[in-house]
Amino acid sequence: MNRMKKLFVAALVVLGIAGCATSKDTSKDNSSKANTEKINVVTTNSIIYDMTKNIAGDLVNLHSIVPVGQDPHEYEPLPEDVQKVQKADLIFYNGINLENGGDAWFTKMVNNAKKEANKDYFAVSDGVEVIYLEGQNEAGKEDPHAWLNIENGVIYAKNIAKQLIAKDPKNKETYEKNLAAYVEKLEALDKDAKQRIAKIPEEKRLIVTSEGCFKYFSKAYDIPSAYIWEINTEEEGTPEQITKLVRQLRASKVPSLFVESSVDERPMKTVSQETGLPIFSTIFTDSIAEAGKD
Ligand SMILES: [Zn+2]
Repeated sequence: MNRMKKLFVAALVVLGIAGCATSKDTSKDNSSKANTEKINVVTTNSIIYDMTKNIAGDLVNLHSIVPVGQDPHEYEPLPEDVQKVQKADLIFYNGINLENGGDAWFTKMVNNAKKEANKDYFAVSDGVEVIYLEGQNEAGKEDPHAWLNIENGVIYAKNIAKQLIAKDPKNKETYEKNLAAYVEKLEALDKDAKQRIAKIPEEKRLIVTSEGCFKYFSKAYDIPSAYIWEINTEEEGTPEQITKLVRQLRASKVPSLFVESSVDERPMKTVSQETGLPIFSTIFTDSIAEAGKD
């Protein structure tokens, strides 16, 4: 009996240890350990986040500051964003007058966190051919929307991969492999867009949005653009801006309008009422779509 009892206790101990090894607590410890081995990467907006995610996958801890659907030109960072920037090993921003234009929220944030340019934070637009703004107040400043030409998107992706590899060389091979696959997808998309656009009759080629964010797109895909205001850091939707666009649209054969997900849609609704042109859909210029949406 005594021997049986001892065996029984021994069996319980073995079961107990086995149970422990697969318990939730242990696996949580493992994953938090894994997370502390990963580098911390912060992006300013969801577009740069998405590009970084395509290249880094789950190899880094990734945080994006401006939420999906919000305007990256002007933003009030949350305490969580400030903390993540302080702890970041690597920060990606667009530059060329986006987060560092207007009230320059990003510049203030990295200065407060004592982060250094080209050591801690990097402009992913580095190397693109910059186009400049034309409007009264903003004339001569950089147009930040370089990513709307996919060829520039490829430059962004390569810049992101280069810095990931520099900060986290042990995963170099995976970053390179993911970059190659992503660039291949972007180049296929660019080619497809050019082929489809070539089929649109020239007199109908005009992309109409609230913000004049399509200068790079217009140049790359041969579609002129019309807009209510030139950049989100200026006044948005004044009566003069609306009247000017309405006049321009009446002289055109464009069949429809678009409105961006990251702006107030009311000025474009006014344009639609005054011209009788429908708003065809919401489009994504300064933010990606919410997960699961087109
Ligand atoms: Zn914009």
